[in-house]
This record gives sequence, C-alpha cells and structure tokens, in this order.
Amino acid sequence: MISREMFLLGSNRSVIREIFEYSKKRGAEIGGENVFDFSIGNPNVPAPESVHEAIRELLAEEDDLYLHGYTSANGDPAVRKAIADNLNERYDTEFKAENLYMTCGAAASLKICITALYEEGDEFITFTPFFPEYKVFVETAGAKLIAVETDPDSFQIDFHKLEASITEHTKAIIVNSPNNPSGVVFQEDAIRRLAELLDKRAHKYNHPIYLIADEPYRELVYDDIEVPYLTKYYKNTLVCYSYSKSLSLPGERIGYVLVPDEMDEAPMVYAAVCGAGRALGFVCAPSLFQHVIGRCAGQVSDLSVYKKNRDLLYNSLTEYGYSCIYPDGAFYLFVKSMEPDANAFCERAKKYELLLVPSDDFGCPGYVRVAYCVSTKQIERALPAFQLLAQEYQKNRNVLD
Ligand code: PLP
Repeated sequence: MISREMFLLGSNRSVIREIFEYSKKRGAEIGGENVFDFSIGNPNVPAPESVHEAIRELLAEEDDLYLHGYTSANGDPAVRKAIADNLNERYDTEFKAENLYMTCGAAASLKICITALYEEGDEFITFTPFFPEYKVFVETAGAKLIAVETDPDSFQIDFHKLEASITEHTKAIIVNSPNNPSGVVFQEDAIRRLAELLDKRAHKYNHPIYLIADEPYRELVYDDIEVPYLTKYYKNTLVCYSYSKSLSLPGERIGYVLVPDEMDEAPMVYAAVCGAGRALGFVCAPSLFQHVIGRCAGQVSDLSVYKKNRDLLYNSLTEYGYSCIYPDGAFYLFVKSMEPDANAFCERAKKYELLLVPSDDFGCPGYVRVAYCVSTKQIERALPAFQLLAQEYQKNRNVLD
C-alpha cells in the first residue's frame, strides 16, 4: 500500500496551484490576455543581464565536469564564501563559507531546518497570515504548527497572543518578513521585543527556542523600508534565503540556509542541517546555479516595476472601495473579501476573469491575495474588472439596506 498522508498531499493541489491551472485552461479558451491571473508569486521581471552573462561565461570558461557535476553536499565552498562576503558587506556581519548550506530554494531551506530541529512533541509557531506550505513542512516532519493571530488592523505581531502560545514544546518561531501574503515588514522594535521574549522563555524552559527567518522577499521592499537582519538581534536564528524572487529565478531552485557561529551548539545545528538535506534526498543544490550565484551574489532584478504595480493597484483598489493593508514589501496585496466567505468572493471575481487566491489556507479567512508580480499592463487592463466587482457588491448592499 501507499502512504495515505502523501496520497492526500499529492491529490489535493494547493489552492494557488489550482487557480494557476484554471488560468491556463481559461486562457486557452478565451485568450491569455483576457484572463487576469493574480494567483501565483512568479516574478514577471526578468533576471538581470548579469545572470545571463554569468551563465554564458561559465559555459565558455568552465569544463562540463565542474559545471554539471555534484558539488559538496553543503555547496561549493567558493560560492558560499562569495555569499558570506556579500552578506558581511551589506549587514556588517562576520559570516564565513562554513555558515552556509546551499539548497534548492527557500522551500527546501525551510523543510531542512524544520527536519533538522525536530524532536518528538515539538511545536513550531508562525504568525497569520502565513505561507500555506509551512503547514505541510511542519506536519510532515511530525510536528505541530501553531498559528498565532497578528493584530487584525496592522498584521503586526500581537505579543499577548504570542506569549500565551509559547510553551515548553515550542521549538522555533517561523518569521516571514516581508510577508507573503500581507506585504507587512516587522520593524526593529518588534524584532527586539521578539528576541527578548524568546531569550526569556528559552531560559525558563532550559532549551533554545529558534527563530527561522524565511526571507525570499528580503530585498523586495519599497520607500526606504529597512528589513532588520535577524541574526544581529537573536543569536539562535536560522536564515532561509532564496534567489527565486530577488533574482527572478524561481524555477532554478537555488537558495541557502545560514547557521551563524553565535548560535548555541552551532556546529551541531549545522551538522543536523547537513543531515536533514541528506535524509530528504537533496544531494546538493543545482551546480550551475550555485556558480551563477557565486558571481551574482547581492545583485537583484529591476524591482521598480513592483513598486509601480503596488502603487497603482493599492491606490485604485482603495478608491473603488476595497480595504487592504498598505504593503511595505513582497509583491502581494491582501485585500478584505467583500463577503465573509473569501472562496465565494473569488468565485464571483472569476465572472470578471479575475483570478484571486482566497486566504483560508493562509490561516486568516476573509481575505484574498492579489499577486502583483505581473505586467503593469495586466493591472491596467484588470482595473475595470476590479471596479465592476466592487460595484456589484455595493449595489447588492444598497438593495439590502
Ligand atoms: N516562503 C515564502 C513566504 C514564499 O512566498 C515562498 C514562495 O513563494 C517560499 C518560501 C518558497 O520559495 P522558493 O521558490 O525559494 O522555494
């Protein structure tokens, strides 16, 4: 027989994938340009020319064995050093190649960290709204995901709720800032307060409580917003980074886990990260793209289109009567559904060919996620549909009034 758990996971696609597939089908029926797909976080900005150059140079300069061969399981040492040097320049840190473990993107980094840390009975805390795959990664490791509600107006950490949720079973807190799907960034004062709380509780329970910083959107922030570098505030932080969004390389599957030296028992944690990568069968991160990153560490795609899209979409939608939090980062707008059931709202939106993601799986019902990593043209063409949808609800409300 087969694993029922895996069967269920494989047979029930994520809601995002479900809509993404519907979009392709609908596009074939009425033409892709007539479907306004805001479902998936696939960057529409191309990777920078330097990435293409690095690929061409590598193909011209390096022999195939180096380029396409296995690397060390934890990643090519020169690549890891290049990443560490770049982080040190940007954040005034002192990382070395030995602090980094190359992975197949943030999803792999998260799964590796959770697996590396897990012991029977453990709980992992995160904040609502959260990336739905956390539940899959945590539960398939055997642990329990505890979703702590954030402040409903700001989506910032509600420390009273967090304090009540941390117990002796808490192994780690997963922090995703800038956040998918709200776009919220946790500022320095919140991070300091979080670090103090975790220190206190770790002391009380006599074991470390880790922070897992899920940071694929670190560089995607607007209007001079700063994203605190969490290892500088809390030593027991593992960073899960990915080049999927910052360099527009989601299909290439490249990222890393960072384990700082200051962490309690850092060599053991790093070894457990290596062990988890091994147990999960990752072998090593893709070699070609490790080498590309070695040459492009710290660079980013042209992110200006996201800011333009954010401003256009936020200003237009709020003008039409939608309510949503102003996102400081990432490329999502988290919009209040115009009826209590966000799934029903998304079905109604489909009538206008608007494909939005209901928020239930983000642990925060009653909203929809609008991914604005699309062309500005698509947003401009979709705005009348958003307006008609809002008007339909306003009309119905007037009738009821
Ligand atoms: N974490 C968050 C919050 C994400 O939004 C995503 C992807 O959208 C991931 C992790 C996984 O990213 P990757 O493509 O690097 O695996």
